[in-house]
Amino acid sequence: MYVRLPLGSAVSGGRSSQPPAARRPGAGTRSQSYCRFSVRSERTMSSVPVAVVTGSNKGIGFAIVRAMCKQFPGDVYLTARDPGRGQEAVAKLQEEGLHPLFHQLDIDDLQSIRALRDFLKEKYGGLNVLVNNAAIAFKVHDQTPFAVQAEVTLKTNFFGTRNICTELLPIMKPYGRVVNVSSMASSSALGSCSQELQKKFRSNTITEEELVELMTKFVEDTKKNVHEKEGWPNAAYGVSKIGVTVLSRIQARMLNEKRKGDHILLNACCPGWVRTDMAGPKAPKSPEEGAETPVYLALLPSDADGPHGQFVSEKTVQTW
Ligand code: NAP
Repeated sequence: MYVRLPLGSAVSGGRSSQPPAARRPGAGTRSQSYCRFSVRSERTMSSVPVAVVTGSNKGIGFAIVRAMCKQFPGDVYLTARDPGRGQEAVAKLQEEGLHPLFHQLDIDDLQSIRALRDFLKEKYGGLNVLVNNAAIAFKVHDQTPFAVQAEVTLKTNFFGTRNICTELLPIMKPYGRVVNVSSMASSSALGSCSQELQKKFRSNTITEEELVELMTKFVEDTKKNVHEKEGWPNAAYGVSKIGVTVLSRIQARMLNEKRKGDHILLNACCPGWVRTDMAGPKAPKSPEEGAETPVYLALLPSDADGPHGQFVSEKTVQTW
């Protein structure tokens, strides 16, 4: 029997009245390896597994939602900062016979993040899978002053992603999976940092507060035009993704220290060079191909004990 509880107020979009395991092809077999909640025949609403993908109205995020709708035995939330673009994306997937749900989410807006958190707590009692995909990048020839590019890029890619993690990691359920979409640009930017900065970013003891200080310092240094003298590369996007990769290493360490028994796996990854609005039409990978590594990490089976705290590309752990 499937017990349906009252919906949280923030939801829009629709869901089938059937339990997710019954309406998704292949969900029955996958659910057994995924998580112990999903094999119960009697389930309350809060035992329905739930996945959230940030910035998923287009590009790689959209392809991640599509793949998750096919493979994840639970509710999959397509989120977007703009509800119109989000609903349009949901409609596209519905035309393909898929059933994503929608929730508004602007990762730059703490109120929006907290509204999603409260909704997930109330409707599902937490969260099973979080894919932090949303990000921005200025085009190479953009004439916006570098200091502005640095501030705007770090605001979304690093500080926005961190705010999501601050609010949503505490509600991750046991056997949860967290994927922070970073980029190989983080590795190349790391290689262009001073030896002193590289040592800090590779440290196994750096704290989140120290990382936040460093990311803030980068933005301040660009405003004073001393960032290169201070050992930073001329790459706002690359530095923002250093922040995402290092944040993931720190968060994984914290999970080991504080919630070891919950078996949550958290990783950063690169999707590859993918044909999207961000990367342009010349990139070799389709969005579906770009989604493969993030989806692999999002669906690591419940008996997996890794990867965890790694930077993963092409489903392979990379040296940081
Ligand atoms: P994209 O096509 O530009 O899509 C980015 C998505 O993020 C859009 O849905 C965008 O929404 C959303 N977004 C931006 N700011 C947001 C905010 N404040 N709140 C919520 N959503 C926000 O980019 P993509 O190529 O698919 O990139 C997806 C991820 O892969 C990013 O993390 C990117 O850095 C990473 N990545 C991409 C490549 C590549 O080759 N494409 C390579 C390495 C890493 P709007 O439509 O509202 O703008």
